[in-house]
Order: sequence, then structure tokens, then C-alpha cells
Amino acid sequence: MLPAVDGVVESARGTSSGTRWYRRTTRSRIGAVPHRDDPGSQGYDERLMTATLEPRAHGTARPRDLLGRPVHDLRISVTDRCNFRCTYCMPKEVFGRDYAFLPHDQILTFEEIERVARAFVELGVEKLRITGGEPLVRRNLPALIAMLAALRKADGEALDLTLTTNGSALRALARPLADAGLTRVTVSLDSLDDAVFGAMNGIDFPVARVLDGIYAALEAGLDPVKVNMVVRRGVNEASVLPMAGWARDTGVTLRFIEYMDVGHSNGWRLEEVVPAAELAATVGAAWPIEPIGAAYRGEVAERWRYADGVGEIGIISSVTRPFCGDCTRARISAEGMLYTCLFAVRGHDVRGQVRGDPSDEALRAFLTSIWERRDDRYSELRSRATNDLPKIEMFAMGG
Ligand code: SAM
Repeated sequence: MLPAVDGVVESARGTSSGTRWYRRTTRSRIGAVPHRDDPGSQGYDERLMTATLEPRAHGTARPRDLLGRPVHDLRISVTDRCNFRCTYCMPKEVFGRDYAFLPHDQILTFEEIERVARAFVELGVEKLRITGGEPLVRRNLPALIAMLAALRKADGEALDLTLTTNGSALRALARPLADAGLTRVTVSLDSLDDAVFGAMNGIDFPVARVLDGIYAALEAGLDPVKVNMVVRRGVNEASVLPMAGWARDTGVTLRFIEYMDVGHSNGWRLEEVVPAAELAATVGAAWPIEPIGAAYRGEVAERWRYADGVGEIGIISSVTRPFCGDCTRARISAEGMLYTCLFAVRGHDVRGQVRGDPSDEALRAFLTSIWERRDDRYSELRSRATNDLPKIEMFAMGG
């Protein structure tokens, strides 16, 4: 049982091993904005906040790229900094004390992020994912969430607004984020074993603190809470089944991620990838699973449900079963570079456009021209030749 929390409604779900309890709250989608009196290093403009509370009527044409793919998801990196040094993402040998992260004046302000997100929504984006680096280290993040939660699709509906985090600051921030309008969250956790997790996160960060962040997200009513686990051969394979069992008992959706060749600092080798098929077989042998279809075109994870009805898992198989044909994702980095592929070697300078021209129409035209020239399908082309490309690091681009 989780500790009692004031004003929280308990709910229960049955499992094969008994009943698991967690708490849900009801909350407004656009709640009070926390930390209003803390200007932070990237403050926000009250007038703009109020202006964006109104739904927008827009009927802008939706661009398609050269392979006929629309833009559906926008991943927004709010910082290139992270408090973890995961060996597969930001190894401490490369990103040590002397590493020069972006200075504050080079990262997009909240107002600039909102403007870019709004332009993308007008071009057809329906889902926003806040990421980093570690997004929770960006000061006043709930204020940005409130600004983005106020955006509306052409039909007046709210967007799917979510966030990916290492969970280390979720105990403090889950409630303010939910109150600001965050609907759901994904937390990264690679093992329940402290020795394995501590070695993978590079700073010996304890499992218990991430679990506590996950419980805080559940208590705050974020729904669903998903957990990402990168699986690396010879490092945390033994953690697959304990993680799956824990996720079943807790009521979170676990998603296994094949170790990917993002960036060029992690020394990636194909031999270290545990293929999706093997992951599904391992879990299925313990608890039978059956495939379910994607919720929408371009959904990242292959979904499987447990045959006994106790939830589902996802597997993100970018290496062994690439899904470029359905990739509808754009990424905007903390410094405002637009990337149209996770494995891109170059981006497009949206910050320059935003700071140089106040016209929203010009911004939409700029983004449209980039999207309409897009033909990326790196994962399908992955080969020895692509291995040596000077790819951008995931934490810099936004994971
Ligand atoms: N700091 C946040 C976090 O830890 O979730 C957000 C950024 S992180 C780059 C986003 C996701 O990318 C995490 O789930 C992380 O495990 C995953 N990731 C990073 N490098 C990866 C790699 N080489 N292969 C597969 N997944 C990776």
C-alpha cells in the first residue's frame, strides 16, 4: 500500500496475484499555474498565458513529407542538461564536469516554445512530448505545461500532452505538473536492481527514488504512467522479468526499448541489442501475451496485452523492426533546432526564424517547407555506412 495522501481517491484493479492499489485524483486540465511568483531563469509573460487559454480556430493545410507522412507528434526538448549519466546516452567519460552545455540565452524561452508548438498544432500535430536532457531540471516547467495545455486542435479538442523523465524529481513535481495540465507521463527505469541501475544511470541513483517518483505520478492522477526500460545485452537482461512482474503488480505500462545507435558517444554495437522478438518471447513465457494493434498511425511501440487481462507491454524495436514508414515525429531541440529524424546529422534553425520574424504565418511556412522536403528513414537504411555518420546526441536533440 502507498502512504495515505489527503484528498485522494483510492481505486483498485484486480491482478492474478491479488489486488493492487493505487490512487487517482481528479484534476482540471488547465489548473492553477504553480510557482507564479518565481520568475526563474526563463520567466513567462502573463498576458501570453491568458491569451492562449482561448481555443483557436485554424484551418491550415496539413503538410505531408516526400514519403506521404503527416506530422503528428512533436517532441520538445526543454534542456540539454541531465542529472544522470546513463552509459548508453550521456556517458560520464564524455560528458564530465567540463562539458559545455548550452548557455541560457541560447535555449528557447517558454514563449518561443509555445509559439513553435502552436504553429505545429496548426500544421496537424496532435501530440506533444516534453523531453530533454532531463526536462524536470528546467526551472518552472509547470508554467510551460500550462501554456501548452491551453493549445487546442482544429476541432477544439485538447492535445495529448505528455513528458518523458528519469523520475528523480517527480515526487516534488508530479502534482504541480498534473495541476498545470499534464495528462500522462513516461518514466525511464532500466532495472529494479540497485547495482545494475546505479551502473547504468552512471551516478548510482537508487531505484527506490525513481519508484517513489512513479508512485507520486500515480497519486497525482497522471494516467497512464508508462515506464521505459532500455535493454542492453549482458547488462540488464536479467532485469526484464522482475520489471515486467513489478509493472503488472503496480498497474503501469512497461515499454522495452531496443538499445539504439543514437549519437556517437555510447560505443553502440549490434551485439548488445536484445531483439524485440526475444523480449516478447521472454515475457510471454512467464505470462502469455497477445499482440494488439497500434492506437494510431505512427505509434512508436508494438503493443502486447497479457492474456490474463492484467495490462499490456510495449516494445520499441527501432533496430530490428524499423518503423520509418509510419514515422510522423518532429523534434525540436532546446536551442530550437528542428530535427526530422532521431538519427539526423543536421537540423533546421527554428530559433533563428522565431527570433527574426514575428509573423506566425512565416513560421508555419518555414516549418511546412522543411517537412515537405523530409525523406528520412535512417532505421530502414541502417548499415555499416550509416554507423559512422556524425549523428546528433539524443540528449541534445531530445529523446
Ligand atoms: N531524461 C529523460 C529520461 O531519462 O527519460 C528524457 C530524455 S531520454 C534521452 C529519453 C529516453 O531515451 C529514455 O527513456 C532513455 O532511456 C532513452 N534512450 C537514451 N539513449 C538511448 C539509446 N541509446 N537507446 C535506446 N534508448 C535510449
